[in-house]
Amino acid sequence: MSVFENPSFDDHESVTFFADPPAGLRAIIAVHSTARGPGAGGVRFWSYPSSAEALTDVLRLSRGMSYKNAMADLPLGGGKAVLMKPAGAFDRAVLFEAYGRCVDSLGGRYITAEDVGVGVEDMRAVRRATRHVGGLPEGEAASGDPSPATAKGVFLGVRSVARRALGRDDLAGVTVAVQGVGHVGERLCRLLARAGASLIVADVARGVAARVAEELGGRAVAPEDIYDAEADIFAPCALGAIINPSTIERLRVKAVAGGANNQLATPDIGDRLAERGILYAPDYVINAGGIINIAAEVSGRYDPAWVEEKLAASNATLEAVFDRAAAEGRPTHAVADEMALERIGRGR
Ligand code: NAD
Repeated sequence: MSVFENPSFDDHESVTFFADPPAGLRAIIAVHSTARGPGAGGVRFWSYPSSAEALTDVLRLSRGMSYKNAMADLPLGGGKAVLMKPAGAFDRAVLFEAYGRCVDSLGGRYITAEDVGVGVEDMRAVRRATRHVGGLPEGEAASGDPSPATAKGVFLGVRSVARRALGRDDLAGVTVAVQGVGHVGERLCRLLARAGASLIVADVARGVAARVAEELGGRAVAPEDIYDAEADIFAPCALGAIINPSTIERLRVKAVAGGANNQLATPDIGDRLAERGILYAPDYVINAGGIINIAAEVSGRYDPAWVEEKLAASNATLEAVFDRAAAEGRPTHAVADEMALERIGRGR
């Protein structure tokens, strides 16, 4: 499928395809908008069945980063990269350094960092080829793993939805169903458990879910059963498009608030959540903590106090989305999109 005809193409400023056969590299970098600053967002390392699927993913994810960075009021535009996992053997450090050269060739129009399948060590390899990288493990301004900040932002958002959807000022006894207990999900579980919430967890890595449940006093369920969980809040922290026609009617919760990107398969799924009276915390508003942490690093001086302030401000933006949605009787995802488009100068 060609780029311009792809339904996920949204007047992206540039979409660049890269190949480096000796390194086993095939990558796509999409810069959606630089209206607010250089496009910033992570690189996803994934076994894509086809380049068409990789393209659709990078187009959607990079647009999401424009919206996320705008809603977090960062001086950054939206960009994202996908690095296709080679089918055969490969040298990871060589691959990521080659990827760094791709990033560098864009001359700073795109700043990369971690996403699914990528860790801080990979960013170290990227740094050998470019300075347009965040989420580094070391260095003067290094911010390291972004997921603790993401989890913290999601936790603040869960508290907000508990107030709005459940009338609860604290989380004691509130049941949260967490899908995916990886970097973000496990940290979120710890914060929730500390706040007295009851946990239901699921992960395709069942042993991990069982360990987290045992350690934090929750209950692990099979991955497929998380949608039917008798919980107050559903926190998706795995992959995208998990709220879709085959899952939405199964949800028994009062709110959805989690860290995963692109939770809604399509926008009309957000409308249906609203019709069902399920409060949805728009994913790119609630999960901005990681990019806030990286923004602190790329500014040249990592300041934890600034990150805390930005997390609080981001939570206030989430509250503003809820206020506007309630006042106008509209779904939260539509209100958030409208606010984001205004902020990147693409509003009506
Ligand atoms: P991760 O790979 O560390 O964790 C994801 C977990 O989900 C893994 O344990 C995996 O086994 C599990 N999983 C995958 N499919 C599943 C399924 N169908 N059911 C249950 N579990 C499943 O990734 P992460 O860094 O924790 O990111 C999680 C989500 O949050 C992703 O959508 C990512 O894009 C988003 N996100 C992450 C950050 C960050 O700072 N890491 C920031 C913003 C958004």
